[in-house]
Amino acid sequence: METVLVSTVLGALLLFAWFQERTARALLWWGPTCLLAALGMALLGLRDVVGNFVSIGIANAILILAAGTMWCGAREFEGKKTNLGWVIAPPLVWIVACQTPAFDNDVTARIVLNCILLAPFIFAAAFTFWSGRAEHLVSRWAVVAVLMLHGISHLVRIVVVSLVAIPNEADLIRSGYFGCMAISLLVFIVAFAFTLLALTKERAERHHRIAASTDSLTGLLNRRALFAARDRLASERADTITAVLVFDLDRFKQINDRFGHPVGDRVLQLFAVVARGELRACDLLGRIGGEEFAAFLPGCDAEQALRIGERVRQRFADAARQAALKDFLPTVSVGVAMSSADGADSSALIIEADRAVYRAKKAGRNCVRGAETAAETSGHSVASAQGKKLSAAALAGVLTRVERSAAA
Ligand code: GH3
Ligand code: MG
Ligand code: MG
Repeated sequence: METVLVSTVLGALLLFAWFQERTARALLWWGPTCLLAALGMALLGLRDVVGNFVSIGIANAILILAAGTMWCGAREFEGKKTNLGWVIAPPLVWIVACQTPAFDNDVTARIVLNCILLAPFIFAAAFTFWSGRAEHLVSRWAVVAVLMLHGISHLVRIVVVSLVAIPNEADLIRSGYFGCMAISLLVFIVAFAFTLLALTKERAERHHRIAASTDSLTGLLNRRALFAARDRLASERADTITAVLVFDLDRFKQINDRFGHPVGDRVLQLFAVVARGELRACDLLGRIGGEEFAAFLPGCDAEQALRIGERVRQRFADAARQAALKDFLPTVSVGVAMSSADGADSSALIIEADRAVYRAKKAGRNCVRGAETAAETSGHSVASAQGKKLSAAALAGVLTRVERSAAA
């Protein structure tokens, strides 16, 4: 009775959770799972009232169907399609088996077949959640653990009924066996529903977090998330020199004016793909303004940073050439600055790299320039990975080498 009430309430709770978060469509399977379990348990307990066909045949078929819908929910959660034939066949097998008098009168055979039909759904659901582990959700492991324990309890049931004498049919409902089964189902349903709610909530929060830190057009980090990630990195690895590259697409306004805004958007997306492809996984890349991007490259010295900037510039021009915007070739100007060993904050570094972009624009665009050094301006300086300052002349030398090797 308690199991029926609790399952009904949890089923309603899961459906209510779906009502609040409509994108979590798996809840549309899991709510009915609990309601079906409640119905099945209620019919099981009404043996004296409804007769054997309903209380054994139909009730258990409903419980097996509930396990199937639970598995469907797991697949829906992982974005997988399900053939409903797999869900409907096991309950039908059960009903057909119950038409055989020898089976219908054999309690042990019934319990064994019941477990054999239920357990695969439970283990398959656990496997489905496990297979989606690339999406890091802590609650996922709680759900897998609950399912595995419940699945194992069915295997234990098979062993127990094979070894221990089962009470005769009339006493089964009042026996400890039935009580144990009801309690284990109750514990499972409560644990399952709560871990599922936690899982659904965790995923929704993760999606919101990602959406808040991502630029929707390019999929890169937005300005706020990029700076936050760089500041986190700087506090974790304070002694690491970081290069910063600022990219500003050249004469971008003309692309919009001549070819339309959607084409401009596609060029921005193209740049994002090219730049991401040229950087390491540990490099941070984000869109910091309309047609401006920035990358933080931890552990890169000035020479490496200039070389990477040059590579991105060239690859983008190559890719854009293939995009064939009539006589217009989209290009990018790149500015490079280096964090000194005492670590400037992200905004200061971007300002410095922005100055270098300005120099690149002045130099005719579609080129890479380093930040001005102490020799040219006061205050800021460019440092190599070893922490030694690079003079303006040395930087210009590096740049020439980079440009020559890129042209070769
Ligand atoms: P420069 O070579 O000096 O950088 O010239 P520019 O035209 O690239 O620079 P400007 O700042 O004059 O123009 C930037 C343009 O970028 C203006 C704006 O309409 C466009 N823009 C900003 N955000 C977006 C966007 O999300 N999509 C598109 N299509 N255009 C954008
Ligand atoms: Mg700009
Ligand atoms: Mg521009």
